[in-house]
Amino acid sequence: MGCCFSSDDDETLKRPLLKADPSSIITHYPSPSQLTPEDFKAIKLLGKGSFGKVLLVTKKGTSNYYAMKILKKKVIEKRKQRTHTLNEKKIMEKSNCPFIVQLKYSFQTKDKLYMVMEYMSGGELFFHLKKCGRFTEERARFYVAEILLAFEYLHSHGIIYRDLKPENILLDYDGHIKITDFGLSKLGLSSSNPKAFTFCGTPEYLAPEILKNQGHDKKVDFWSLGALLYEMLSGAPPFYSKNRNEMYKNVLNKQVEMKPHFSNEASDFLLKLLQINPENRLSDMEEIKKHPFFKGLDWDELAHKNYDAPFKPRVSNSTDVRNFDPQFTSEPPEDSCDSTVSQDPLVNKYPDFTYIGHDELYAEE
Ligand code: AMP
Repeated sequence: MGCCFSSDDDETLKRPLLKADPSSIITHYPSPSQLTPEDFKAIKLLGKGSFGKVLLVTKKGTSNYYAMKILKKKVIEKRKQRTHTLNEKKIMEKSNCPFIVQLKYSFQTKDKLYMVMEYMSGGELFFHLKKCGRFTEERARFYVAEILLAFEYLHSHGIIYRDLKPENILLDYDGHIKITDFGLSKLGLSSSNPKAFTFCGTPEYLAPEILKNQGHDKKVDFWSLGALLYEMLSGAPPFYSKNRNEMYKNVLNKQVEMKPHFSNEASDFLLKLLQINPENRLSDMEEIKKHPFFKGLDWDELAHKNYDAPFKPRVSNSTDVRNFDPQFTSEPPEDSCDSTVSQDPLVNKYPDFTYIGHDELYAEE
């Protein structure tokens, strides 16, 4: 999930993030039978986030594979991430969108929280972009269009995503995308309460209005979509500088520079997304869908995943992790086991964390 940018952020192996605000909406779920870590067999380490790690696991007695995120409660409490963690779980559990990673199970032990998600065997878009340097326009257009459908879903449910970057876009075995990592998402926005005020996100993708601390709304997602598209087409984010303050200055003052190989349609679309003033930014979904950059695209067909993805990740079997960083997959997939659900006071801080999704109905047990 998203991490906070703080001095003790030593577990962060990816780009640092900035602090997010708390917004708590906790609902009550039925409490089905308790799962424990022993119900799963760890296969590989897939990655590390700011607060824990993600393992490829299989549910014992089945041939189903999942990505299991393991978070240490003490770390979450220390970094004040309780609400963000619950929000993330809630979004993944409740969302019904083919472009959003789904939660399959969640449970807790004395020390840890476990979120078992559908496994995206194609790995991070970041991994593929680093390998290729940059993508063709056709390929970038496909990813941007699927991401837009995820945004359409989230925004229509009063959620701003706020953390778009190539690390948070995962590919399935067919090459379709799903977005993940909702730790910085803002829930509960409405027409009467459309703005959020917390300084958060990943430096390279921060919208100017976040930097100015003037309050922001769903338009920040369209800014970061512009930054992501620019990076996919050129190999680097639009205002990049090693010096973060320099980068922020660029975001606030500089006109984005289009590369000679960008098509006119792509340049026009980017210019309209990367508008410093959010009021001038292209952020109406219907208008976006009609932009010439998407000429010829049938959005209904796309929503039904009826288009073949322009790139199919190679995987030879369910445990093939070649699309993940060997830095992680070469490590032992350990979860120092504590399967006890005790009277520890932290358990009370995560009431109703247990979730058992539809897969349970079809489990081959
Ligand atoms: P996170 O803590 O969400 O940032 O996840 C850390 C890393 O684990 C991600 O960057 C991915 O490489 C990997 N990962 C997370 N969720 C999944 C998933 N559902 N399927 C496959 N890999 C995942």
